[in-house]
Amino acid sequence: MHEIATVGGKTKKRTFLGLLLSALILIIIIIVYFLVIAGNPDAVFSRNVAMVLITLAFFSTGLILCGLCCIIFAIVKKRTFPGLAWFVGRTLYLYPFVLQIGRFLSIAQDKIQRSFIEVNNQLLCLNPLKTEAEKILVLLPHCLQFDGCPVRITKIVTNCKRCGKCQIARLLEITESRGVHMVVVTGGTIARRAVERYKPKIIVAVACERDLSSGVLDTFPLPVFGILNERPNGPCFNTRVDLQKVEKALDFFLNREVVSKEVRC
Ligand code: SF4
Repeated sequence: MHEIATVGGKTKKRTFLGLLLSALILIIIIIVYFLVIAGNPDAVFSRNVAMVLITLAFFSTGLILCGLCCIIFAIVKKRTFPGLAWFVGRTLYLYPFVLQIGRFLSIAQDKIQRSFIEVNNQLLCLNPLKTEAEKILVLLPHCLQFDGCPVRITKIVTNCKRCGKCQIARLLEITESRGVHMVVVTGGTIARRAVERYKPKIIVAVACERDLSSGVLDTFPLPVFGILNERPNGPCFNTRVDLQKVEKALDFFLNREVVSKEVRC
């Protein structure tokens, strides 16, 4: 299996996985609490209500536990298997809960989001899904465009005059040479419209931690490979992206051996 670049060198998958496990443990504690209530004859809840809640909680905990085990197994063993995406989908229901636990533990939200994107990318790397160029969509944030550029590229990206003041020109070269679609979006609504229009099988998205993680969740089960943008001028202003990461991701999904065999996931 060929491998592609990670979100960032120091991004740890265990941040997200550890918080996921914490969320699960919290659910189990809640179940035990209700079990104790159900066994108490003077309980505020009726025994029946408690039993229904316990059954529901047991069922969802079981699914999430399976999902978590599947993710860890796939990442450790570096292999995928049928049904993995389904279990991962069930596990993702806990994502808002994971963020809250992280907040409670004073873990920076962007660190959790980076870790989540890393886990997501790793799972995508394991999936042997390769596709034709016209089924790949590159979604870029508007803040990559030079702030002083008078050209409107959000409707038609080829309006770019390729002056080289920002990376849009190079990104056009990269995507055009591979025949994949490229769209510059100003927000989630336009991104969703682009997805409806091009009906991609894979999205390679560039954005900040928050937009990437919400994009992955919004479009699931459609695979989104996330690449974090660089913000040398602060957030949402003249941002940049590691072009090599974009090229390597595209070559990986296009099954172009030349570039992808020399990189690691
Ligand atoms: S490369 Fe394109 S988008 Fe960037 S500043 Fe020049 S014309 Fe504008």
